[in-house]
Amino acid sequence: MSKTTDPREIKNIQDKELEITWEDGHVSRYSFQYLRQRCACALCQHEWTGEKLLDAAQVPQDLQIQEAAPVGNYALHFRFSDGHATGIYPFEKLRELCPCGPCSNPAGHAR
Ligand SMILES: [Zn+2]
Ligand SMILES: [Zn+2]
Repeated sequence: MSKTTDPREIKNIQDKELEITWEDGHVSRYSFQYLRQRCACALCQHEWTGEKLLDAAQVPQDLQIQEAAPVGNYALHFRFSDGHATGIYPFEKLRELCPCGPCSNPAGHAR
């Protein structure tokens, strides 16, 4: 695993956000709602076409994560307060989803 997709620390911020500090020192903060809206499980996103099956507007703003558990050493599994628990979030994908300015601005993506 590369440093950028290796989590050093994972924190729950006031039951509203998930904060991941990566091995390269970068800090990502995701609201639970944001994560739920980006769930890529077969119920939320079509397996082959990538078509969104989840209506993002239906995800409540005060959604909670009731449980976060590691999957092997490559992903996190969340149990959301709306009962949804089939999503698996690989660290690589979480890093990609980082909502901070430099990460979400494609121009700032040095590759
Ligand atoms: Zn899902
Ligand atoms: Zn970022």
